[in-house]
Amino acid sequence: MSGMSSPLFSERILSWYHQHGRKNLPWQQNKTPYSVWISEIMLQQTQVKTVIPYYQRFMQRFPDVVALANAPEDEVLHHWTGLGYYARARNLHKAAKMVRDDFGGLFPSTLEQVMSLPGIGRSTAGAVLSLACGQHHSILDGNVKRVLARHLAIDGWPGNKKIEDELWGYADSLTPAEDTGSYTQAMMDMGATICTRSKPKCDECPVQMDCLAYAQGRQAELPGKKPKKTLPVKTTCMLLPMWQKQVLLYKRPSSGLWGGLWGLYEVDTREQITDKAIQLELGEHQLIPLDGFRHTFSHFHLDIQPWILQLAAPPGAKVQETQEHWYDLEQPSNLGLAAPTKKLFSTINASL
Ligand code: SF4
Repeated sequence: MSGMSSPLFSERILSWYHQHGRKNLPWQQNKTPYSVWISEIMLQQTQVKTVIPYYQRFMQRFPDVVALANAPEDEVLHHWTGLGYYARARNLHKAAKMVRDDFGGLFPSTLEQVMSLPGIGRSTAGAVLSLACGQHHSILDGNVKRVLARHLAIDGWPGNKKIEDELWGYADSLTPAEDTGSYTQAMMDMGATICTRSKPKCDECPVQMDCLAYAQGRQAELPGKKPKKTLPVKTTCMLLPMWQKQVLLYKRPSSGLWGGLWGLYEVDTREQITDKAIQLELGEHQLIPLDGFRHTFSHFHLDIQPWILQLAAPPGAKVQETQEHWYDLEQPSNLGLAAPTKKLFSTINASL
């Protein structure tokens, strides 16, 4: 480790944290494993300032793990609408039910038990137990991977299993047995505020003196990037059957894209719209195109062409209550909406 001694590294990180670290975030007050868990899951792929209002609303509605377990999935997804990566919310809900049913409503207290819950990997489990309970576990989230890969000049993409294992080894050896919770928070803060993805603030960094990336001027190239692949492009027509201010939605299957959320019916091409309208028994209608847009997922682009189907007469009573819903744009129901559906509703609302 090129002359770097572990205690020294963690001591410098800790003393920086005690002076400069973030201590006023909502989930740092009255910490419990539950509150830390919710914040950690929300913070995956999402920035602190975006998470704060979501976290506050979520905790107000679901103040403890049993309240979350007992809530309908639709309501949980509704509180997640806009945060993206909805599997996180579905897993939170499933995990809360497991805590209620298998752990007597008490959040488990060993790493293995916490890792047995859906959606919780080793790093999140370590973060929850060290931050909320002061247990000695290391973490390796994106921020920590970046700090360590730079500090130790470890080449290669950290998502690669071999590189990741190497980084875990360093994370384990650097994490102090004392004050582990502060160290965990400190490393997250370091990655989020000092050793940032672009333009790291090396001059303010407590571990600059033995940082290999700094010494070699390689901050921009470390950690190694994920090998690039071009995303395929798919296309779809989204249908907005409308009667006055109401739009027909259906509940998507619980697995797959936007699983468990409410969304718009789709067809592949313009030519298939009429058949779909007949199948949905929409009756006479006028077709109005809206501006198309692109929604990008981690594995493909989806080019969306939305069509309003303006009904000539009120829809029949055919709606199957649990699977379909006439959503009132003026009095919206508490439903988890797929992101493009939400976007389209804002566009329509703005033009009404
Ligand atoms: S010196 Fe710069 S690159 Fe190295 S750990 Fe600190 S902030 Fe990151």
